[in-house]
Amino acid sequence: MIIPQLFKDKTIAVLGLGRSGKSTAQALLRAGAHVLAWDDQEDARANALAKGLPLTDLNTVDLAKVDLLILSPGIPHQYPAPHPLVARAQLAGVRPISDIEVLCLSQPQAQYIGITGTNGKSTTTTLIGHILKERGAQVEVGGNLGIPVMDLNPLGEDGVYVLELSSYQLETSPSFHAEVCVLLNITPDHLERHGGMEGYIAAKKLIYKNSTSTDTLVISVDDPHCLSIYEALSVSKKVNLLPISISKILSEGLYVKDGHLYEKGKSVLDLRKFDRLRGTHNWQNIAAAYGALRSLGLEPEMIHKGIASFPGLAHRQQIVAHYNNITFVNDSKATNAEAVAKALACYQDSSLYCLLGGRPKEGGITNLKPFFPSLKHAFLYGEAASTFALTLEGKVPYTLCDTLEEAVNAATKLALHDNHKGAVVLLSPACASFDQFRDFEARGEAFCHYVEGVVTQ
Ligand code: ADP
Repeated sequence: MIIPQLFKDKTIAVLGLGRSGKSTAQALLRAGAHVLAWDDQEDARANALAKGLPLTDLNTVDLAKVDLLILSPGIPHQYPAPHPLVARAQLAGVRPISDIEVLCLSQPQAQYIGITGTNGKSTTTTLIGHILKERGAQVEVGGNLGIPVMDLNPLGEDGVYVLELSSYQLETSPSFHAEVCVLLNITPDHLERHGGMEGYIAAKKLIYKNSTSTDTLVISVDDPHCLSIYEALSVSKKVNLLPISISKILSEGLYVKDGHLYEKGKSVLDLRKFDRLRGTHNWQNIAAAYGALRSLGLEPEMIHKGIASFPGLAHRQQIVAHYNNITFVNDSKATNAEAVAKALACYQDSSLYCLLGGRPKEGGITNLKPFFPSLKHAFLYGEAASTFALTLEGKVPYTLCDTLEEAVNAATKLALHDNHKGAVVLLSPACASFDQFRDFEARGEAFCHYVEGVVTQ
């Protein structure tokens, strides 16, 4: 647990009492700060109170008397409009910061690796953390995933914080400085929170704002936004660059060709054998992790060993069970068609039984049309079922189910009678979970539970 001593006796407002907000407020209390904790939601306040956190209605506080405002990532500080309390704080000259900023200020002696991008952040962050841990390094992994950063352990100068950073967190962490940072990719996302694409790109660029020529930026050059950042930095030489690509051969850096990772023109890894990191998108994540760790001086053999023993991440093409001829895969994190396409691309040689459903997103599953011929049967459930059925009509056989449990049972029944050696029952729902589950994690856990029921029958 971090005790941010430098905030002793300071008056600090904490707005947003989800997991990270609560953890930050508690850490500041431990450090002897005067904490004013608040959340607009009554249930979040009740939960914080139950955990022993005193509350102060920030609407009644003169924010000019506050030294700092710590903001949860979900609360807007700029677009579409600042939260009213943030707007008041800004008028009073108080800039909102994140818990990551508190970590950086209170643990300046440690090393940092920062990972951002539109997709693949959690996978790459966890993979880097795993490889470093396997090597016996003192490592703490967190940020936009898993444990709130204030609950991580304090580290000395030999320790490394491996942090996943969202665009919101980058905007509110002005002191963040990493020896090695990773920019995986940029595609449109969360545009309403950044006033458009330009604002989103500007937020992502903050990952290297404090970098110097002794630091390294591992950057993909496959999408046009990252490529133009790379080109600009090649001229300014602000930071060491390590370009990576999964689509073209590079004269420097790392690239992937025919399933192999190349470093200095030499094949260093056969990426096709890492079953828990399937798909070309994961090759990008592996290349980024490899590049980050090589920049820190790790030997290729050590990195190879770490990738081979990586257990994978829950809810992202997670292999849950093998039963008779069936492999069950939990890809609950795939909440949109783009992510589902990544999973479907990995199972083109299998007999594929896909579970789709939940609360649909704009566009539904029409973008998945190129994959329709490879779907043996779809099981549709939740609010999206009837819309998805219309899209699949006449192209993919489907069964309408009321619940995910019913879908798992029906898919198993059909897949068991499949003569193909490799049947796959894949939950890759292309929908938000909120119609039937708390979040994608709860949906994935439910899937695992239903699968367990089926395989232990
Ligand atoms: P994030 O933390 O950025 O949301 P995750 O590592 O949790 O990313 O992966 C979430 C989903 O995004 C995966 O299930 C996969 O569909 C997709 N994905 C992962 N890595 C990449 C990548 N490098 N490029 C594009 N899509 C990816």
